[in-house]
Amino acid sequence: MPQEPVDHEHRAGLLWDVLTNAAKGRRPPLTYKAAATSIGIHHRPIRYPLELIQNHCLEHGRPRLTALLVSASSGLQGRGFLGEPGSERDLEDVYLENWQNIPNPFSDLQQGELRAIAEVLTANPDAADKYVSVLSRGNQQRVFSKAVLHAYGHRCAICEMSFPCALQAAHIVPFGDPRRELRIDPRNGIALCANHHRFFDDGLIKITPEYQIVYYDPKGKDGSYSAVDAAISLAFHGKPLRLPKNPQLHPSRDLLKERLED
Ligand SMILES: [Zn+2]
Repeated sequence: MPQEPVDHEHRAGLLWDVLTNAAKGRRPPLTYKAAATSIGIHHRPIRYPLELIQNHCLEHGRPRLTALLVSASSGLQGRGFLGEPGSERDLEDVYLENWQNIPNPFSDLQQGELRAIAEVLTANPDAADKYVSVLSRGNQQRVFSKAVLHAYGHRCAICEMSFPCALQAAHIVPFGDPRRELRIDPRNGIALCANHHRFFDDGLIKITPEYQIVYYDPKGKDGSYSAVDAAISLAFHGKPLRLPKNPQLHPSRDLLKERLED
């Protein structure tokens, strides 16, 4: 099986330490390549964790730590940087911030702890209420995903696809719902492959409270279908959803009903 999906938050946690150490030491800006090498990745995907760091700084009114990274060729911050490339002011703000008093926002819980919470949730989904308030949004997503994928034996509940890099935990009622415990309650989730997750979110596929798969165009009249198109869509119409072995973790019929009526 392919590798685990890339964890950008984990990378952001490593980069946060590299950048805050550089700021504390008033060191000159690093190149993107040197920063990427220091956390053991290629320089191209570094923009994903950097975006998380920059967004965090903006949301919390902190100077943009990402001012400390420049391109080797131009000596300036790259395209994703939202400050003014080359500005001395941006850099000085970063040096003046008291980083040692700010905990690393991307390592508030270690992977092992997140796994342990996901295990508690699969044993007792009612615990969602208690845990949701102590987890950051990113960690809520991660705990939810771990719990849901585990519940479904790491397979898509529609097609049984099991490549980890394309398996996702779909929310039945969305993450933004005011009932915050539903963000991490595995009964508000279904393990789906990336295609079926998209079909579900776009309403091409619906799941009834009786756990039946409904495809919006069962006769295939809406456009021309290739063999693969039909195999991942029409073929599942009317079929039962593959449920978790543990009946406690079956998707909530009430939430499925709510979603259908939405
Ligand atoms: Zn699927």
